[in-house]
Amino acid sequence: MNKIPVFNPNELNQTEQKTNLLGMSKDELGEFFKNLGEKPFRATQVMKWIYQFGVTDFYQMTNLSKKLQEKLDEVACVVPPAVKFKQFSEDGTRKWVFEVAGGSLVETVLIPAEDGKQFGRKTLCISSQVGCALDCSFCSTGKQGFERDLKASEIIGQLWVANQSYMENVPVTERENRVTNVVMMGMGEPLLNYEPVVASMGLMLDDFGFGLSKRRVTLSTSGIVPKMYDLAKDIDVALAISLHAPNDELRNELVPINKKYPLKDLIAAAKAYVYDENPRHKKHVTIEYVMLKDVNDSDEHAHQLVKLLKDLPSKINLIPFNPFPHAPYQRSSNNRIHAFSNILNNAGFVCTIRQTRGDDIDAACGQLVGQVADKTRRAKQWQQKIWQGKIEQQK
Ligand code: SAH
Ligand code: SF4
Repeated sequence: MNKIPVFNPNELNQTEQKTNLLGMSKDELGEFFKNLGEKPFRATQVMKWIYQFGVTDFYQMTNLSKKLQEKLDEVACVVPPAVKFKQFSEDGTRKWVFEVAGGSLVETVLIPAEDGKQFGRKTLCISSQVGCALDCSFCSTGKQGFERDLKASEIIGQLWVANQSYMENVPVTERENRVTNVVMMGMGEPLLNYEPVVASMGLMLDDFGFGLSKRRVTLSTSGIVPKMYDLAKDIDVALAISLHAPNDELRNELVPINKKYPLKDLIAAAKAYVYDENPRHKKHVTIEYVMLKDVNDSDEHAHQLVKLLKDLPSKINLIPFNPFPHAPYQRSSNNRIHAFSNILNNAGFVCTIRQTRGDDIDAACGQLVGQVADKTRRAKQWQQKIWQGKIEQQK
């Protein structure tokens, strides 16, 4: 599926940049080493160093010959996106703002399970694009517009940096990755940056990469229907669908891409994803539904939702709306959210209500970089926090 770039080290000259090995699939790396005149198994050796031990310096990759270390140092590099700010909250939530090529900012948030266990569940919310073109009416990323797609190195690099943050001062041999779950729920629509996103998720699942279980890697989409069919063929991960409305009229307003891919097509694609003909690919769909006061949260909406989803095995996740400046909505009351959830439960659906965590560092999902829309104001806020010593700025 992914095109393998043909790498010829002889073509490198002084002015060309080194090849970034971060984000390359196993096949791409195999090809890279083949072109260096090396055996393909070097790819898995190097992958383990990069993804499991967080090593970027080829001279620390002790099972490579001195000659190969020197060669790699000359032609290649392992470069994650640059951390511009990082902020670690008292409840264990961690947030990074990356400055990616071209100077744009993207955010990544790590949310630990509430049990606070050192090696407990840690979910990382990853961005796939800078901004988003789809302009959902309740989403601050959408308000920012679309800037550009992230490269595979910038996507997988977010996970790499999050894991690395637990490795500081830990001897290489004792290092292990701590992030247990990944959700592609940060900025951007992942299915509109398809190849780098699928390549990155491949590295998340790969035993020589991060080795995460396929149930613990979730892609969230607003419903890019043709790409949902591709995804079912290309990779086995959990799928979340940002539904937010139980009828086309309301969904057209909240999630404008619905005008192109209406509910009938979206639900059909979701069913095709779940009922994959390969029985080993038993897939999961989660329906995300943001709770907007007096907009989509009535009993009638809940009943419509029950009807819409009756033939789609799915779990429903109600997300209390995260307000942002000038947002035209309010969060539904807790009573309303529970009443809505009861209707779904009584109809036999598993329905959960998302806990909003990390509020103290603006890290709740759906709030990612949102406020970056107003870059000057956001920059000022960050500056103030840095002066107050709340955020560590990276040199
Ligand atoms: N573009 C993808 C993934 C990123 S958005 C998608 O739309 O699914 C991740 C999730 O956050 C989506 O379910 C999205 O609808 C939700 N979201 C966006 N803005 C929000 C807000 N202000 N409050 C609560 N959830 C929000
Ligand atoms: Fe884009 Fe998702 Fe936000 Fe919609 S909700 S604007 S698809 S990031």
